[in-house]
Amino acid sequence: MVIIKLPDEIEKARASNKIVAEVLSRIKEKVKPGIKTKELDKLAEEIAEKRGAKPAFKGYRGFPYALCVSVNEQVVHGMPSDRILEEGDIVGFDFGIYYNGFFGDAAVTLPVGKISPSAAKLIEVTEKSLYQGIAQARIGNRLGAISAAVQSTVEKNGFSVVRDYVGHGIGKNLHEDPQIPNFGKKDRGIELKSGMLLAIEPMVNEKEYKVKVLSDDWTVVTADGGLSAHFEHSVAITENGPDILSKLN
Ligand code: MG
Repeated sequence: MVIIKLPDEIEKARASNKIVAEVLSRIKEKVKPGIKTKELDKLAEEIAEKRGAKPAFKGYRGFPYALCVSVNEQVVHGMPSDRILEEGDIVGFDFGIYYNGFFGDAAVTLPVGKISPSAAKLIEVTEKSLYQGIAQARIGNRLGAISAAVQSTVEKNGFSVVRDYVGHGIGKNLHEDPQIPNFGKKDRGIELKSGMLLAIEPMVNEKEYKVKVLSDDWTVVTADGGLSAHFEHSVAITENGPDILSKLN
């Protein structure tokens, strides 16, 4: 069942997502060759604490960190560690907050120093596919319009969308209905209505879409070792069109 949010609930979710956006902006300033991924997790946790908010992922099904850090061939759910970021890496940062009764959730993929043209294109296309998907988050469209827009943007550029992980509704729970695949047909799925709150999150692979989970039971990597990128926004569907709650300033 898809839970429709009232306007004041959307505002609460906006406040949560504002903290998420603040964290991702601060990470963006800090990412450079030589930084340990654990330091960025610590930074995320410190900002959350300062804002009186709870990191949403820490403790979720036993995940031990506030921040997901996915480097290069890691798709999502990578763990912060003593790994030092190197020039040429691309790194996905996914962060969630629980604040005022509502969850916020967003992700970005960032370059570390100078990256290859193909890695830069992967990041650019993945972000673009997110915005193409968001543009379809409109009253009267089917959910599949979002999925189809993401998929066509990605495949037109020679990349592939991950099938095994999808976006989701969000609100008083981190993961709510509906599931939002990044592939599909535009006339399929539920009809989109005002007050729906969706975490849209394309995961895009440089080569094949197949993925596997490492022995830590969390880190998802591409099966063929190719690069992967991930972007996410929490978006409210309103009478005035899509409203991106997690916009980075
Ligand atoms: Mg999410």
